[in-house]
Amino acid sequence: MNSLNRTHDPGARSWVAAANEPLCDFPIQNLPYGVFRTSSQEPFHAGVAIGDSVLDLGRLHASGLLDGLALQAASACLDATLNRFMAMGAPAWQALRHAAFDLLNANAAPETVDAARKCLVLQTAVEHAVPVAIGDYTDYFTSIHHAINGGLLLDPAYKLARAFQWLPMAYHGRASSIGMTGHQFPRPHGQVLDETTGTPVYRPTRRLDFELELGVFVGRENALGEPVGITEAEDSVFGICLLNDWSARDIQAWEMTPLGPFQAKNFASTLSPWIVTLEALAPFRSAVERVLDGPAVLPYLDSPANRERGAFDIRLKVSVETAAMRASGSDPRVLCTTNFAHQYWTVAQMLTHHTAGGCNLRVGDLLGTGTISDPQPENAGSLIELSQAGRKPLDLGNGEERSFVEDGDKIILQGWCERGDFRRIGFGSNFATVTPARQI
Ligand code: MN
Repeated sequence: MNSLNRTHDPGARSWVAAANEPLCDFPIQNLPYGVFRTSSQEPFHAGVAIGDSVLDLGRLHASGLLDGLALQAASACLDATLNRFMAMGAPAWQALRHAAFDLLNANAAPETVDAARKCLVLQTAVEHAVPVAIGDYTDYFTSIHHAINGGLLLDPAYKLARAFQWLPMAYHGRASSIGMTGHQFPRPHGQVLDETTGTPVYRPTRRLDFELELGVFVGRENALGEPVGITEAEDSVFGICLLNDWSARDIQAWEMTPLGPFQAKNFASTLSPWIVTLEALAPFRSAVERVLDGPAVLPYLDSPANRERGAFDIRLKVSVETAAMRASGSDPRVLCTTNFAHQYWTVAQMLTHHTAGGCNLRVGDLLGTGTISDPQPENAGSLIELSQAGRKPLDLGNGEERSFVEDGDKIILQGWCERGDFRRIGFGSNFATVTPARQI
């Protein structure tokens, strides 16, 4: 696990004024990585978020302001994805972070500031792309609150699977349909059981849902046949972003026994543009919560560090902006707020269990944490839980109700960390809009 260092100093300030605003997601203590361009003529390349701006790592590489390992790291950041930079490993991630911290620091020399300022572009002027070439995507199921509440809504006879408290459950998902924040996708068609006739039909989903998740990017590969132990698991993690694992509940209910979700989950997933590194998250670690009496964890998934600091204190919020809200200029309506610290299994346990049979993870693989639902059911991380499968539609306060996602709805995920005297850092925002189903 990362230890605290000068880049976490809550007193550090940047000469980028917006970075010092108390509610800014991107103060100098954060420095997340993303991929962007400022015009369609420019190739996508990497940058670092600072305040209301992006530190362009392409310009920084050419500026003469870097040397040593930080310069080599910035060279890898000229690519259209972060994979080559990620594959350089934790020393390179740290070298570039610390170099950016020094260049953006309010105490930097005036000539440094003048040169570094030429490497900034405004965030409002950039277009983002999915920042990583994602090889494999594995989606977990690690919130006990989501497992119990969501399971009961899909099937009244549902019982928490016996294995849930023994291992972090997951299915192998689909990487090709993962999109970047801001994208739009049509309501998917699928095979569902018609409630009135009791026979399957092929039609657009009527139960489109979001899932509030975090996306964990693997930054180090392990060889096939060589599991990653729990004490080294976090060395394989590059960073974390916000993930919306869109789900079609009517398709899911019909198809998922006995092999798990398929069409219900493979039509779209949405990532936020910035990946927050584990080093930036070091001040926000917390002890694992275990809310139900359950078995002790098997030794390969247990360590004192994981028990004491394995969880992440990441606050999360989901909002909806309906087409009517957009037309009237009203603010999005908050649907839930929760915290990733409530999750039953940790990131390290997910990663260790993934490799426990010898499965090789590769640089750029994505692990979804599973829906993050609060202990309070009114703060669940999906609409099927919030609306009790449509039995209690949510009153949006503007004359509209929602049981599931409607055409034109924009679903917005936000996340941030704040604790004690440490500087608040944020994940930015993850949003996507659903458009009407295609005519088939
Ligand atoms: Mn999911």
